[in-house]
Amino acid sequence: MATATLPPRVRIGATQLLINNEWVKAASGKTFETINPATGDVIAEVAEGDAADIDRAVKAARAAFERNSPWRRLAAAERGYLLNRLADLIEEHADELARLESLDNGKPYEIAKAADLPLTIACYRYYAGWADKVHGKTIPIQGDYFCYTRHEPVGVVGQIIPWNFPLLMQAWKLAPALACGNTVVLKVAEQTPLSALRVGELIIEAGFPAGTVNIVPGYGPTAGAALARHMDVDKIAFTGSTEVGHLIMEAAAKSNLKRVTLELGGKSPNIVFADADLDAAIEGSHFALFFNQGQCCCAGSRLFVEEKVYDEFVERSTERARDRKVGDPFAEGVEQGPQVDQEQFNKVMGYIDAGKQEGARMTCGGGRVGDRGYFIEPTVFADVNDDMKIAREEIFGPVMSLIKFKDLDEVVERANRTVYGLAAAVWTRDITKAHAIAANVRAGTVWVNCYDVFDSAAPFGGFKQSGIGRELGEYGLQQYTEVKTVTIKI
Ligand code: NAP
Ligand code: MG
Repeated sequence: MATATLPPRVRIGATQLLINNEWVKAASGKTFETINPATGDVIAEVAEGDAADIDRAVKAARAAFERNSPWRRLAAAERGYLLNRLADLIEEHADELARLESLDNGKPYEIAKAADLPLTIACYRYYAGWADKVHGKTIPIQGDYFCYTRHEPVGVVGQIIPWNFPLLMQAWKLAPALACGNTVVLKVAEQTPLSALRVGELIIEAGFPAGTVNIVPGYGPTAGAALARHMDVDKIAFTGSTEVGHLIMEAAAKSNLKRVTLELGGKSPNIVFADADLDAAIEGSHFALFFNQGQCCCAGSRLFVEEKVYDEFVERSTERARDRKVGDPFAEGVEQGPQVDQEQFNKVMGYIDAGKQEGARMTCGGGRVGDRGYFIEPTVFADVNDDMKIAREEIFGPVMSLIKFKDLDEVVERANRTVYGLAAAVWTRDITKAHAIAANVRAGTVWVNCYDVFDSAAPFGGFKQSGIGRELGEYGLQQYTEVKTVTIKI
């Protein structure tokens, strides 16, 4: 393992609940430990919110949404100024936040600094720009009437985010909700609460009125479930596993039919044709799978490679995986840190066992790295077939599965044989093949000769059981507005 050259000088920031612009303890007085996944050591005790705290936070968000509240009285442009101010503050504290993100999540500090922070800042700025550009239409209906629509905020929005990109997921949720004038109760993941809470301090500093944003760290089955079933929450936006996505929808159905948007799991096909630029396809496919310790909902986890180049692709992908630099997230040049926690570590190791047992050929990796923390060797399986567990289920770890295919029609059919539909990619020099994949694979995003290209302006979300609705871009605004039709007799 690489050794640390950068001391993790990290400022921890807030560890309590943010309700009504105040930092408060949980009503129960309970706290939970947040762990450094590189060592297993406790970083801090964090207030553990549950149903009572969610209720307090919802009341604060409701009061902030009342007619004539300071938030509702702001001009749309002023909401944009506040979001821009928040983006500026995050930028001023980018290094500090990247350190905190790395410490709590395990992702390499350099990557947090180069990817997570700029994308987070860009997302707040992008939606700041939209704040005063969300508007309705005038509609020429029959008769002597003037008809127009208003795009109004949905109201109090509950948001639940995962641990794989804590700051970025917070931005994807808060920025469009606030641009449209909603108020928010955000439940952060129990594994990684710290960066979102630090941003909570910056939200106060930016000048958002009390109650606009409330942040409740806590567990899913208690705090998360309380938010999903709360009768005074108008909408719930969730990112995480498909399994919990079903529970969120059920809770919405059984409570008040709150609006639901879901960003769930995936088993994304990444398709390499023999005519592709193989250097680019090998590096791109490595990145597609291993980025963020393999903990990406859109990871290219079913790597379909055309028969003619399969053996070469396996050999060179294995070499690249062996070269991957795993170690201390604060050390220079490290590409891969630990998995987020013991539970995820165990789950991934279980999939590696399943791959071996089902007869896939492991060409590298398979073991733990070091003797503390949750590090896993970059692992490659060849001769994987569609029915194996590792080809069907979301592994969410550094485990690549290489699957052989013969031709376009066959690979389209096999790529679609999944309950998921989040993303897909194709590597080819043939524009006809590229278009055929783009048009026929049932997924919310298709990348051609690239992977994991994200931009605040480009929508992202899932077909099938990968989700409901889209985040980012102009499409992301639709999820945070209600359309009202006003008809006036002339
Ligand atoms: P998860 O349970 O779906 O967690 C996502 C968020 O939902 C967390 O904030 C979680 O709280 C909360 N949650 C859990 N149960 C809930 C409930 N009954 N009601 C309301 N909220 C609830 O995911 P996980 O357990 O962290 O990871 C399990 C698997 O999910 C991973 O292995 C991966 O396959 C997938 N996953 C996908 C994404 C993605 O970006 N699509 C992200 C993370 C994980 P806690 O903090 O208590 O868990
Ligand atoms: Mg969980």
